Amino acid sequence: MAAKKTPAPPAPAACPVCKGSGEVSVTVRVGRKRRVAGQQTGMCLTCLGSGEAPTDD
Ligand SMILES: [Zn+2]
Repeated sequence: MAAKKTPAPPAPAACPVCKGSGEVSVTVRVGRKRRVAGQQTGMCLTCLGSGEAPTDD
């Protein structure tokens, strides 16, 4: 039996939502008409700010 080779883990893929920055622009809306008040930077909820695409394993 050959020893089981452990493959090197691939480099983490960049998060497709924030492009690896870990931050996303969030549109701020106010009022009943949801008028756009501006934008602010928020933590990417897809990668939780890590900038790496989440894995399902
Ligand atoms: Zn992200």
